[in-house]
Amino acid sequence: MSESFWAPGATHAELAEAFNQNEARVNWHDETLWWVRQKRDRMARSVPEWELLRETASQIKEQVLSSLSEYLEQFEAQATLNGVQVHWATDADEHNRIVHGILKEHGVDRMVKSKSMLTEECHLNEYLKEQGIDVVDTDLGERIVQLAGEPPSHIVLPCIHWKKEEIGELFHQHLGTPKGNADPPFLTHAARLALRKEFLARRVAITGVNFAIAETGEFVVCTNEGNADMGAHLSDVHIACMGIEKLLPLREHLGVFLRLLTRSATGQPITTYSSHFRKPRPGQQMHIVLVDNGRSQQLSSDDFRGSLKCIRCAACMNTCPVYRRSGGHSYHTAIAGPIGSILAPNLDRKQYADLPFASTLCGSCSNVCPVKIDIHVQLYKWRQVLVKDGYVAVGKKLSIEAMNYTLSHPGLYRFGGKVGRWFMRTMPWLVNNRLNPWYKQRDMPTPTKQSFGEWYKANRP
Ligand code: SF4
Repeated sequence: MSESFWAPGATHAELAEAFNQNEARVNWHDETLWWVRQKRDRMARSVPEWELLRETASQIKEQVLSSLSEYLEQFEAQATLNGVQVHWATDADEHNRIVHGILKEHGVDRMVKSKSMLTEECHLNEYLKEQGIDVVDTDLGERIVQLAGEPPSHIVLPCIHWKKEEIGELFHQHLGTPKGNADPPFLTHAARLALRKEFLARRVAITGVNFAIAETGEFVVCTNEGNADMGAHLSDVHIACMGIEKLLPLREHLGVFLRLLTRSATGQPITTYSSHFRKPRPGQQMHIVLVDNGRSQQLSSDDFRGSLKCIRCAACMNTCPVYRRSGGHSYHTAIAGPIGSILAPNLDRKQYADLPFASTLCGSCSNVCPVKIDIHVQLYKWRQVLVKDGYVAVGKKLSIEAMNYTLSHPGLYRFGGKVGRWFMRTMPWLVNNRLNPWYKQRDMPTPTKQSFGEWYKANRP
């Protein structure tokens, strides 16, 4: 079975350390995500107008954010005309209560759910379980982590931290597959047979929403497995849960986003299924729950509102050197990685104050983002806000201030360098010892007698 990296209440550093205990796992996690990043690069290069698409998508989303309330009202009016019941939720709790209310109204205690990061953000599964509702996740990756009792570690590849042998063992325990069989087609077939029974037995299906069109009141759900369609078409009640930022003004804008989404996510030209839902079929009920949960607050911030342009492609995670080597669970929030580190402190500054620091600020995330969010700039801004508001440890704050003072006083900087080099030469054990975690996996270089500044002064022409 997979080692558990999921420990509620722990910090990013603690969870990353736990993930790093298994070096082999870190290596293949890193290499697998880098392979996905390279597929994304090849796909992006194969589209000559790629940068134009990114710029267009960014501007469309800017337009949505600048008139969000109007677009939401237009969407609600159109969806209602189509026969869809529209609900509004201020926060996660209200979203969960609305969904539970619909289930109660239909006397239902079992339902299927396709992948929806919004429901992960709202902890819907846990809430419904407490109310006695049996939820079956139908995306294969999500089903694997659900059987394992874990949250997803990646928004597109939920069980990317699991090896096929571990999945074979999990299926042996939960689905009765032969012990030791880790053949992916065999395991996928076993999951398909088990899920088919669930699809046929459930009357209610929940899906997420990738894009919602204000002009028509329709919405689009993208999957590779067709599980959202299967659930929605077999159910008497379809509930679609969406964050209020998922809107696009016009249907023709979809072409821009569908071309960008999957190329950025997995390096595919398009998702296998891009399913459009507009109205319930005769005899069926269709509900849409529009969820705020901190988004209006993010919208009101000049520094962070751009993060609401996110289309959840995960390209920023696949490229991030910290994410690839620390694993998604280390971010202890539903949306991990660089974008999650911007979104989460907006919900709870104290709980997520560590996340904006889990970055090298190398800017690779911003370079690959299909909607041109300046992710690394926002991470840097969050650091300033969190330090100013007192959400980081006193030791960290003092050391940053000491470093700031030293770097702004050249004389002190030169003196500090001299003293440091002398100590490292004559008493290396003072810094290179078991108490200093920096040296756990590093060799201390032999310090030079001269600093670069001294050398340059002596050797410049
Ligand atoms: S921030 Fe950009 S790259 Fe990251 S998930 Fe969102 S759209 Fe994709």
